[in-house]
Amino acid sequence: TYHPEDTRVTAGGPDGSTLGGPGFLVIAGPCAVETPQQMSTVVDVVAEAGAGMLRGGAFKPRTSPYSFQGLGVSGLALLAEQRMRTGLPVVTEVVAPADVERVAEESDMLQIGTRNMQNFALLREAGASGRPVLLKRGMAATIEEWLLAAEYLMQMGNGDVVLCERGIRSFERSTRFTLDLSAVAEAKRLTHLPVIVDPSHSTGQPHLVGPMSLAAAACGADGLLIDVHTNARGALCDGAQALDAPQFTELMDRLRPVVEAVGRTL
Ligand code: PEP
Repeated sequence: TYHPEDTRVTAGGPDGSTLGGPGFLVIAGPCAVETPQQMSTVVDVVAEAGAGMLRGGAFKPRTSPYSFQGLGVSGLALLAEQRMRTGLPVVTEVVAPADVERVAEESDMLQIGTRNMQNFALLREAGASGRPVLLKRGMAATIEEWLLAAEYLMQMGNGDVVLCERGIRSFERSTRFTLDLSAVAEAKRLTHLPVIVDPSHSTGQPHLVGPMSLAAAACGADGLLIDVHTNARGALCDGAQALDAPQFTELMDRLRPVVEAVGRTL
């Protein structure tokens, strides 16, 4: 190992949620912010089950321009409302350099999505924002390219970077992407940064989210980023991969002993 001490990234002020310490952090919420009711229902479920941070996209980087693109600025307000109500910090994606300042004002951590991992103008803005950044691995990026993208953020003076493995493209079609858990252990070996796993966008299927979450905890990940929706069929974005309330609650129960077995706490 090349680094004497692991970096701990805390979102949401000194008493916020930490990634990279002894704790294992589950970040959960809907793929996209849709309505006030949807948000309060989902957030109640994930908070009650023990999630330590909320996710939800206001700006969605969709493959098709005809898909729901997110609520934008009004979605940020709905997220901020949930953060006020629960005290849980929020992470949300930013897709354009011009929006970085606004998203940084209304959230606790900026997410850079897989499609923007090498958007260097966006990385520079995010690096200068003063907020921690969750950097997803590009779906066709090597580990080295991923770590160099993190260097763009850190070069701007921002050391609060969290890496997120979210699956890469392979020949396999029965999963949405191929979750590369070896990249988690390897990134942990090569860097001092926290590394988390997104079992939702990688597999694309709710029945694989549980097994991959347990495996992620077992192989040394510092946390998870999970899609949860209480009305997956009606979801405006990626409903097919979201866990419903009972599935998420059950997963948290199954996760606890695995997290404890690797000497951490949930
Ligand atoms: C997301 O987490 O909302 C998302 C769009 O993920 P990815 O960038 O990994 O596709």
